[in-house]
Amino acid sequence: MAHNQKLILELLKIEENNECADCGRKGVEYISYNIGIFVCNETCSQIHRSLGTHISKIKHIYLDYFEDSQICNLMNIGNRRSKLEYEKRIPACYRVPRYNDPPILLEQFIRAKYERKEFSGTVLPAYMSGKVEIFLMKKGKEDNRYFPRKFVLNEADDTLRYYVKEDRNPKAILRVSELNVVFATQFKKSLVHKNTLQISYLSPTNSTRNLFVYHEDAEIIVNFYHSIRCSKLNYLQIAFPHAHESDLVDILTRDFAKEGYLLKTGPKPEDKYRRRWFTLDNRKLMYSIDPLDSYAKGEIFIGYKMDGYSVRPGVAEHYRDEGFSFSLFTPERIYTLSATSSHERDDWMNEIQKVIERHLSPSDISLCSRLIRKRNTMNFLPGR
Ligand SMILES: [Zn+2]
Repeated sequence: MAHNQKLILELLKIEENNECADCGRKGVEYISYNIGIFVCNETCSQIHRSLGTHISKIKHIYLDYFEDSQICNLMNIGNRRSKLEYEKRIPACYRVPRYNDPPILLEQFIRAKYERKEFSGTVLPAYMSGKVEIFLMKKGKEDNRYFPRKFVLNEADDTLRYYVKEDRNPKAILRVSELNVVFATQFKKSLVHKNTLQISYLSPTNSTRNLFVYHEDAEIIVNFYHSIRCSKLNYLQIAFPHAHESDLVDILTRDFAKEGYLLKTGPKPEDKYRRRWFTLDNRKLMYSIDPLDSYAKGEIFIGYKMDGYSVRPGVAEHYRDEGFSFSLFTPERIYTLSATSSHERDDWMNEIQKVIERHLSPSDISLCSRLIRKRNTMNFLPGR
């Protein structure tokens, strides 16, 4: 074994060097020898390559030859010191991605770190300014066509407005503090543009409304995502001045636990099974006909296990089993569902079970009462 190879193995005994410098994945296979860090074999080494060698020079730990000067750089820097420098000023609202987070966030994080040096400089990023105006491609409410729309985020009055025609009144005014935003590519990869955000909020009728927007430039859409997070954090810090910042950061945006097609039947055993797109968003299990529908067709509140909620494989008596069926028991009704495979069924049941095991938070209780209000005010259509 070459002398330099031995030195690398010595450096790998340092715990921080064995965890990817960017995504935290255990086990590293590549070195960026000019930056002086160890990175993972998965996405990060590829993202570093895409930055160009003027920013990051990547070599394989075991397959490549290292000059003395390159090893020297690694010994002097390493993952811990590099983080101290390149992640020096990450804003609290910034979502630092881990290996299992949306790839677009990871790529933009790495670009922000090494290409734009956003976290080591002193310039405040524009997404923290409290006022953002951008044009995004927005999906039509009734069809799958996208049109450019102006979006204006104003932290001062907690609003996000969008306009169909620039000079007219806004088409909608959303409360930033009440909306959620996720990268739609997590579960709808083949259905949307790679830079698509799904913005969800409550309509005045208490239904969940979804907006799908994208921008060709990944940096712009990720910055827009962070401008929403920053605005929400500032709002929460005023509303809850004694709360810990880290607790507030945890609730700025939430990814969906699971999405996908399930078969769903109505409340009566003779009702037909229909294919529906399901989304598990915290304690809310929503379903719609199409993954990109503007409104959820149904919303089921999933409460705590001691209050009559459970999920079990199979179907209740008299119901037809569609192959990979499972039943969700709520105090009001049994929902009979069927997945596309046994693996999918286990996955759905597992995610729902996690929710059932969790105690209710104050915001969960308000969600529950809102969904009950909605059910009482709308016409109940069996088998929807
Ligand atoms: Zn990584």
